[in-house]
Amino acid sequence: MRMLVANWKMNHLRADLEAFASTFLQGYGAHPGVRVGVAPPFPLLAPAWAAFEGRGVEILGQNGHQEAKGAFTGEVSMAQLRDLGCAGVILGHSERRQFFGETDALLARKLPAARSNGLEPLLCVGERLEEREAGRTLEVLGSQLAILGDSGPGPLTLAYEPVWAIGTGRRAEPGQVAEAHHFIRVELVRHLGPAGESVPILYGGSVTPENFDELLAIPNVAGGLVGGASLDPTKFLALVRSAQVNV
Ligand code: PEP
Repeated sequence: MRMLVANWKMNHLRADLEAFASTFLQGYGAHPGVRVGVAPPFPLLAPAWAAFEGRGVEILGQNGHQEAKGAFTGEVSMAQLRDLGCAGVILGHSERRQFFGETDALLARKLPAARSNGLEPLLCVGERLEEREAGRTLEVLGSQLAILGDSGPGPLTLAYEPVWAIGTGRRAEPGQVAEAHHFIRVELVRHLGPAGESVPILYGGSVTPENFDELLAIPNVAGGLVGGASLDPTKFLALVRSAQVNV
């Protein structure tokens, strides 16, 4: 199964969403074997659902709170995401880890909260530049993936996103991607048993229509989690088409 997810981060207003959907949906047709998702900022979840309903585009939250409800001003619960039509939620994006202090211990609580509300977690892992340069990439990935040990069975997608490749125009080399994705696969099977074989592992970090075909050819790369290039409907459509051709 191929999969492509647009992470819009804190970008776009309602008019941008409408313009995106209009251009994207003119060229998009759902294709068996390729899942397509859009993760808009919270205020655009409902309009995104309305714009894409029935068109083969899943809606994902960019984050969700670990508690079911209560006095957590400014937060959004997993149940609220589900209530707005979300199929999944991004967890542990490096910007959440870096700017909002999200830890593996916190993510270990968010993962079951997402699942128990019917959301598929899209768990992001990846090393910072200094960790790669210190030869610690696999150690870092291993410790970020350790939360899966207690997570039990359930739907799951992984994204390998080297932090130094996100939004920098510097995507990881094919050999680096192959090594990381192979390691993640081994860890998935170690933690989840045979179910770990079929968990999709996306690559994220400066994916563009120009480099995506090469990335899709790498073993264990199921698709992409895309930031910058996903804001442009023509570019995102080109990425979707690559996935559909390489299914
Ligand atoms: C991301 O935000 O997950 C991401 C991969 O961003 P970009 O494609 O802009 O590097």
